[in-house]
Amino acid sequence: MAAAGRGVLVVGETVNGHLSPTTAGLLAAGQALKQDLEGELTAGLVGHDLTAAAAESLQAGVERVYIVDDVLLQDLPVDLCLHALAGLYQATTPEVILFARSPWGRELAPRLAGRLGVGLLQDCLEVGIEPDSRRLTALRPVYGGNFLARVRCAASPQIAVLRSQAYEPLAPDPDRQGEVVAVPVDLDVSQSRVRVVRRVRHEHPGVSLTEARVVTSGGRGLGGPEPFRDLEELAGMLGAAVGASRAAVDAGWVPGHWQVGLTGVTVTPELYLAFGISGASQHMAGCSGAKVIVAINTDAEAPIFREARYGVVADWQAVLPAFMEAVRNL
Ligand SMILES: Cc1cc2nc3c(=O)[nH]c(=O)nc-3n(C[C@H](O)[C@H](O)[C@H](O)COP(=O)(O)OP(=O)(O)OC[C@H]3O[C@@H](n4cnc5c(N)ncnc54)[C@H](O)[C@@H]3O)c2cc1C
Repeated sequence: MAAAGRGVLVVGETVNGHLSPTTAGLLAAGQALKQDLEGELTAGLVGHDLTAAAAESLQAGVERVYIVDDVLLQDLPVDLCLHALAGLYQATTPEVILFARSPWGRELAPRLAGRLGVGLLQDCLEVGIEPDSRRLTALRPVYGGNFLARVRCAASPQIAVLRSQAYEPLAPDPDRQGEVVAVPVDLDVSQSRVRVVRRVRHEHPGVSLTEARVVTSGGRGLGGPEPFRDLEELAGMLGAAVGASRAAVDAGWVPGHWQVGLTGVTVTPELYLAFGISGASQHMAGCSGAKVIVAINTDAEAPIFREARYGVVADWQAVLPAFMEAVRNL
């Protein structure tokens, strides 16, 4: 177990050289923890060409940004990133380390925890600090999303992987300045057992499902692929992304990366519109973090109505066209 330090380190991620939206949410969560810990909020970035992302981290409210900037980190090879993160930890010794629940965060956080000999809190919906013990606590779904458990870190540093979209990003202050500290870490290709052979860019026009503030989602109740074209049109009008249940994916109506749920993606939009989805626990595991769920289902006993803020017991064919017309008129 490593020595306990102070403050909160947010491990940031970049998209095309800029701070990712998930990091912005993570920084908001870090701000709240920092106040409870009366420590410092810092960001750690590993990668290459991090100048813009470092400036954006400062604008988003961190006091200092620690970077490991190396051309060897350009493709974010996992072994070298871990090495760089361990170096960041040694340089900063924070009390709390936050990762986003992104593919990268989910891969690196357990490895860093293993390297430091501590446990970690995975898949957290919200995090807080126990006032007396200064322990990091979190609320996280368990048993396929059927229950929420309150858990706490037992060792230090305390590491959590957070669904950061649940946190409202703080408004950036473009005039805000701060310190960017380059952390020297010796990196060597021989430390990497993983080589990036090829990158395949997955093009998805419009809003990404994991970052969407509104999701229009459909299930087996839609009866076929055609109604998903309507959901896409509705999504276009609302600036939303389209999701689906596994039943719709398994039927071949929509691509697999649209699947929301335990074995699909997790979404945390402000509004989740579910058409013809029963609300199986495995589906809800991926969308129960939505602020408002609206369910449209012919079966008044469908489980989704237990979690939906608003429910319409009706055939989607009566509701969807009328709703689209209303949105069009707006
Ligand atoms: C290990 C495991 C992992 C899984 N992971 C996932 C996952 O990640 N995501 C996921 O979604 N599922 C997952 N599942 C599957 C999950 O258990 C459900 O089978 C699936 O979510 C059901 O999809 P559905 O709600 O579209 O279909 P159904 O359960 O068949 O529900 C269709 C609903 O549509 C309603 N309906 C029918 N006609 C209409 C109409 N005309 N208008 C309005 N409503 C109508 C019905 O009343 C019904 O409630 C997983 C299962 C397992 C075992």
